[in-house]
Amino acid sequence: MNLENKTKSIWINGIWKDFTGKTETIYNPATLEPITEVDYGGEIETAEAIQAASKAFSSWSETTGRERSRILYKAAELMTQNAERLGEILTLEQGKPLTEAIGEVKGAASFLLWYAEEASRGYGEWIPPSSQSKRLLVIPKPIGVVGAITPWNFPSSMITRKIAPALAAGCTIVLKPAPETPLSAIEIMKIFQKAGIPDGVLNLVTGDAEAIGKALLESKDVKLITFTGSTAVGKYLIQESAAHVKKLSLELGGHAPSIVFEDADMEKAATLVLGSKFRNNGQTCICTNRLYVHESIAEEFTAVLTEKVKQLKIGSGLEKGIELGPLINKKALDKVHVHLEDAVEKGAKVICGGTAWNGDLDGYFYEPTILSNATDEMIIMSEETFGPLLPIQTFKKEDEVIHAANNSDYGLAAYVFTENTNCAIRTSEKLDYGIVGINDVFPATPEAPFGGIKQSGIGKEGGHHGMHEFLEKKFISIGIE
Ligand code: NAP
Repeated sequence: MNLENKTKSIWINGIWKDFTGKTETIYNPATLEPITEVDYGGEIETAEAIQAASKAFSSWSETTGRERSRILYKAAELMTQNAERLGEILTLEQGKPLTEAIGEVKGAASFLLWYAEEASRGYGEWIPPSSQSKRLLVIPKPIGVVGAITPWNFPSSMITRKIAPALAAGCTIVLKPAPETPLSAIEIMKIFQKAGIPDGVLNLVTGDAEAIGKALLESKDVKLITFTGSTAVGKYLIQESAAHVKKLSLELGGHAPSIVFEDADMEKAATLVLGSKFRNNGQTCICTNRLYVHESIAEEFTAVLTEKVKQLKIGSGLEKGIELGPLINKKALDKVHVHLEDAVEKGAKVICGGTAWNGDLDGYFYEPTILSNATDEMIIMSEETFGPLLPIQTFKKEDEVIHAANNSDYGLAAYVFTENTNCAIRTSEKLDYGIVGINDVFPATPEAPFGGIKQSGIGKEGGHHGMHEFLEKKFISIGIE
């Protein structure tokens, strides 16, 4: 796929802006070859985008759910029709295998479709009063201009998971995508352009994160910031949003435990753990970060899983049959190795992998790695690795493993593998996580609420809960005779 040397990436009030002067080069993480350059905007462009979104809000918020629905349906249709081309762009800039990228684009379109259906369902309430002379109403109102900040690991679905419910609710948006993956964001804007979104309702600014963030935080017009990314940046946004008491919706980091009980279906559980850990090369907020296996099956389970891991095909995501692409950048690659070295130093045993991939590409590849003898002192057992490294610890008792699994500042997702319904129900209730998968490692879906507790976030994306993040509840008290 050949792209222009320079790609316009700032879209405000329905216009692709001329280049501001400074650009940023986007690289293919598999080959380190430059793909294109995009614009590097900042405070000025963000202020302009906020102004356009504020102006558009008065008319967009007055449209009916049906009208907003039509645009979302059209966008969903266009995205699905173009899934292969968009998937290729996604792989080029992010690195994940093409089949995963196409799957992500289709998943991203499914958020547009679901919220196209939901746009007409922003129901209010009629509350029975305690007095004959009163009538009590609650009506949902779109909150206003929304600042949306997204990460690079799911460059397509992390965007639609925010903009679909925001648009359905009647909000207008200024989007700032991750600097590594702006091309998927640009394509999504073009889809909405084709779908007929009114000028200013959706705006895109690429560039200086701090400057764009500051402009969003300091504007009184921006009523909500919806952010997906690291807990560190989430904490910064919490602090800085105090000045205007701005509402925040935060999808932050995770450290998912997976627990394999002695009665688990060994083959099924190993396949699911493989998918959970190595999808997107371990760069997934809900991916398994630590694996607890019952001591009676640990040896056999590790052997079954290792056999599967050894068969994973590494390479450029654009090549057919590749299952493991590169990591996003050098910093990510280095972090994986630091976690590995720390674990080995503290007594972990490398079962497979344990080194950068020695293949024929220059990109940021690391061999899929399994470690046994993991202990709680190892960094990998408490910090997000965001790479293809899987530590295994054994356990004897249910209470013991629940305690270990909950012993984390994070609370996004946890997984349980068992064929025992009692154990499944008990453990899913006791795990302090926003999402629990029972014999299921792919819980993200448009119709259900996705989000963490503790330091993994505030608020939900998906389901009717996701749209209500963007709706204020106005209470109207009516006195009657
Ligand atoms: P990140 O470093 O926090 O960046 C996320 C986004 O925030 C990027 O667009 C980034 O832009 C921007 N950003 C950074 N500093 C900012 C500032 N001061 N003001 C405004 N924006 C700022 O996270 P990442 O490395 O891209 O993504 C990985 C993290 O996201 C992991 O922790 C992962 O668990 C989490 N994640 C969570 C979920 C979830 O649903 N809970 C989903 C996906 C990912 P720059 O890069 O230009 O700084």
